Order: sequence, then structure tokens, then C-alpha cells
Amino acid sequence: MSDLCDFPRLLARQGVKATALRLAVLEVLGAATQALRAQEILEMIRARRRVNKVSVYRILDDFTRRGILRRLAVDDRASLYELACEHHPPHPHFQCRQCGQVQCLDPAPLSRMWAELQGPLGNRADRIDIRVAGICHKCREIAEN
Ligand SMILES: [Zn+2]
Ligand SMILES: [Zn+2]
Ligand SMILES: [Zn+2]
Repeated sequence: MSDLCDFPRLLARQGVKATALRLAVLEVLGAATQALRAQEILEMIRARRRVNKVSVYRILDDFTRRGILRRLAVDDRASLYELACEHHPPHPHFQCRQCGQVQCLDPAPLSRMWAELQGPLGNRADRIDIRVAGICHKCREIAEN
């Protein structure tokens, strides 16, 4: 999915300089199949280069403010981040009550609602947050065995 993303261009559109660290943050998130915690992003970047925590957290905040990233509010100590570019439209999330894992769901059900909100009524949505709670398949398997 992230093959479609052109990160240097995404940053240029925002008037942000494409530093190696900013690109690394976007690449890590582009390669992920699920939303990531700030700590996980930091560790993945650290596997490749030396970097301090504050710089990464500052980039995450800045990108969220600019709408490049989405910060998911989960009732957990840590926020989760994911790309919010046109290739990653808003979608519902499923969170397991047991292990806390958050899965990204298909964006299709939200796409119509989103399109309607940008429509003739003149509303402009910039945020949609639908979270479904339950027990994930892994935790169910453990419980049944
Ligand atoms: Zn993209
Ligand atoms: Zn679970
Ligand atoms: Zn997601």
C-alpha cells in the first residue's frame, strides 16, 4: 500500500524539509501493517541509525498537527500512529480488550460517510474515530484451548 506514497513529495507539499529522520519516520509507518506506538517507531528507527527520543516524538507531534499522521486515541498509556495520506483513508479500528492490540479495519464503510460530510451541506470533517472493542482471534484461541 505504501508503494504509492511519495514521502519527499508529501513533505514538500507541506513545506517541510525532507530530513533523513523525517523520512525514516514515514518509512517505518509506511512499512507497517498496523498503527504503531511511538516507542515502537523509535525502536525501529534505532535499529538503523542513532537518534534521540525527543527528536522522534517531536516529529510525530508535528506530523499529527499537519495531518500527515493520525494519532489514535486508545484507552492505553500510549498513543498509536499511522499514515493519514490519501492512500491511507480514515478507517475503523478494532481493539482487543484482553491484549490491547489494535487492528486497522477496512476503510470502505467510512468512505461514504466521509464523502457525504465533505458534500453539499458544507460540513468539513477532518477527524473520524470509530473504535470497535472485543476479543481478538488470538485471545479467543487461547481461551478455548
Ligand atoms: Zn500515501
Ligand atoms: Zn487479544
Ligand atoms: Zn488504522
